[in-house]
Amino acid sequence: MVNLLQFDRAGLGDFCEQLGEKRFRATQLFRWIHQRGERDPAAMTDLAKSLRDKLATSAVIEALPVASEQVAADGTIKWLFDVGAGDAIETVFIPEPGRGTLCLSSQAGCAVNCRFCATGHQGFSRNLGTAEILAQLWHAEFELRRRLALAPGERAITNVVMMGMGEPLQNYAALVPALRAMLDDHGYGLSRRRVTVSTSGVVPMIERLRDDCPVALAVSLHAPDDALRDELVPLNRKYPIAELFAACRSYLERAPRDFVTLEYCMLDGVNDSPEQAGALLALVRGDGRAAPGLACKINLIPFNPFPASGLHRSPPERVAAFAAVLQEGGIVTTVRKTRGDDIAAACGQLAGEVQDRTRVAERSVRAVPVRIERRVAAPASRRSGPAPVAPVRSAP
Ligand code: SF4
Repeated sequence: MVNLLQFDRAGLGDFCEQLGEKRFRATQLFRWIHQRGERDPAAMTDLAKSLRDKLATSAVIEALPVASEQVAADGTIKWLFDVGAGDAIETVFIPEPGRGTLCLSSQAGCAVNCRFCATGHQGFSRNLGTAEILAQLWHAEFELRRRLALAPGERAITNVVMMGMGEPLQNYAALVPALRAMLDDHGYGLSRRRVTVSTSGVVPMIERLRDDCPVALAVSLHAPDDALRDELVPLNRKYPIAELFAACRSYLERAPRDFVTLEYCMLDGVNDSPEQAGALLALVRGDGRAAPGLACKINLIPFNPFPASGLHRSPPERVAAFAAVLQEGGIVTTVRKTRGDDIAAACGQLAGEVQDRTRVAERSVRAVPVRIERRVAAPASRRSGPAPVAPVRSAP
């Protein structure tokens, strides 16, 4: 049986042809699956009876089993999905006034092994298929529609970010059809500006995404220079900042937004000094360099500590001082609120349950970086309290 969640509309057209049906039937079928959440071919009443019969014996719309669901005090929802063989992945819905953002996973685990990331620390098991990426969205969309009793035209999910477990650009073949289904007017109909791929900097795939399916781009930067970024984001050793920025500039020629979002996780005593803020400002403005900088916005993210990291969250006053340097230098900079950290759903906290088939975690323990040492001893700060959250009911 073929899981129809694995197809974008073009792929579904190919499948219909394989069944001896006209390609255009795929559009009707796609709407039933992704706009109405229907799983039973018999209920797809405007499809030809012959197609419904063939679907009943050859295809399924198979969602992922929900292993658990947690709801945070601030309304954030985290689902743990069982993807088999001892692996589980996490998906997070973040409601805010006027919008609802769904954070999807692209891999079970992650091989990039960023120092500050719980997912990376767990190691890597496998890539998710397109069906497993879309099944996260499918479940959240129709579960939230049901709970919030949304009328046609109302949306719970207005934005999708590929920022959950995994490096999406290391799972490119599965990612692109999933993005196309999100953008498709016969699917979820999301604007390119509201679908974001976040990468640690897989340069060749940034270039391919520009040509294949340009959506909003976010880059996990986290350091103002290669020496520190080599330690925090090991992929930097392969694709250093100059190459990464060049790829981003090229990407912006076709992107739906005229800037790249740079994510910068604030680590106490590691990357949060005023001097490092100045270096970051010079980097993005291209001050004193032959190469231009990068049109960007910068998100400063509070670090969400996990026991094995040995890292700590920057104090709020240090984050504010860092932000001020960037803002006074003309760079749009926001300090992200931490959401859902009481259920470990915040940025960098997603860990799921992953069988590490690459022994990344074991290797990382043996190769403890020597450069990163906290210069300031301070306790990790905690969020002051939950923000009130109302259900999202925004028009598309
Ligand atoms: S931050 Fe992203 S790329 Fe880095 S280890 Fe975590 S999931 Fe992987």
